[in-house]
Amino acid sequence: MKVLQERSLAPFHTFGIEVAAEHIIVAESAQDLVMIWRDEKYRSLPKMVVGQGSNILFCEDYAGVIVLNRILGVEITETSDAYQLHVGAGEDWHQLVRSTVANNMPGLENLALIPGCVGSSPIQNIGAYGVELKDVCQYVDVIELESGEQSRISAADCQFGYRDSVFKHALKNTHAIVAVGLRLSKDWQPNTSYGPLAKLNAEDVTPQTIFDEVCRIRQSKLPDPNVSGNAGSFFKNPVVEPNLRDKLLAQHPGMPSYAMADGSYKLAAGWLIDQCNLKGYRQGGAKVHEQQALVLVNHHHATAQDVLALARHIVSTVKQHFGVSLEHEVRFMNAHQETTLAEVQS
Ligand SMILES: Cc1cc2nc3c(=O)[nH]c(=O)nc-3n(C[C@H](O)[C@H](O)[C@H](O)COP(=O)(O)OP(=O)(O)OC[C@H]3O[C@@H](n4cnc5c(N)ncnc54)[C@H](O)[C@@H]3O)c2cc1C
Repeated sequence: MKVLQERSLAPFHTFGIEVAAEHIIVAESAQDLVMIWRDEKYRSLPKMVVGQGSNILFCEDYAGVIVLNRILGVEITETSDAYQLHVGAGEDWHQLVRSTVANNMPGLENLALIPGCVGSSPIQNIGAYGVELKDVCQYVDVIELESGEQSRISAADCQFGYRDSVFKHALKNTHAIVAVGLRLSKDWQPNTSYGPLAKLNAEDVTPQTIFDEVCRIRQSKLPDPNVSGNAGSFFKNPVVEPNLRDKLLAQHPGMPSYAMADGSYKLAAGWLIDQCNLKGYRQGGAKVHEQQALVLVNHHHATAQDVLALARHIVSTVKQHFGVSLEHEVRFMNAHQETTLAEVQS
């Protein structure tokens, strides 16, 4: 474990907003986590495990301990039909994708270039280009932070949903993820179902080609957090009842919508924001990205207040135009705990 001298959180979250924490500590093992949680010095303070901070908006200074998860290690075992990977929660997600593809263990290529740690990937069941973590996840190893007890949660018990899992609900705050088990089938089938990949020929496409294409598309349309601070998609794609979708479709025949298994429809949040002419809209140093309306960027020394004001403006404009409520995908933190845009407003 390493206790850092600095207090600025700017280097530890991809929005790059100038906020501070009382303490920043690097945890390199599950044991480190237990020691931090048991340490009298930190006992009364709020504590939060952070990976690469690519899905967080710190709304103000954090009045507690930020624990950077850097638990490393990748163990690979092989069975007749699959590669089983046991991966430390602090490993970098994209490096894992890159190395598995390069070493002929395909299956993660559609999820290339998603920032963050492997241990964070099950929390919102990361997804892109027609694949979600749940498609390859076998289990998640967690530690109960107060007792230090470790346990294994099967994929079935992770309750994976759209950007959702048990780690955002019953196990939130009480448990930290220390490792993730992935199963990559040797019977690899390309997934080129998602729009921009459909031009690839599924008959002879290789995992490396899909990996390269996903990286190329993402680099062309998403801002690099190292250049323009951001946290990826700021809002979730809203799910609406068929009545509202039909009404909106009659008014906007070009509106994208996707039927869900339960009869409801998923709309494209980026499309809704774009239709409100908000691309490039600024609030202080925060801006709606010029190419990708779903991404809010730290354009020029943005404060958390700038980002919050921009998010509020988007939510109310979309509600006014379409009657649709946008929910943020990015996790908001106040000085002590997780919060929401609605709570920060009040
Ligand atoms: C440019 C860009 C593109 C993106 N594209 C996508 C995309 O295509 N698809 C997608 O799904 N997401 C995407 N994201 C969002 C983000 O990459 C994912 O949510 C990622 O999994 C977050 O990983 P992280 O390590 O940065 O998590 P953090 O932001 O550090 O943490 C996120 C939450 O998880 C908690 N947490 C972190 N680690 C642990 C742990 N070990 N145990 C318990 N709780 C923990 C934190 O407390 C926090 O609440 C994108 C983000 C960016 C910046």
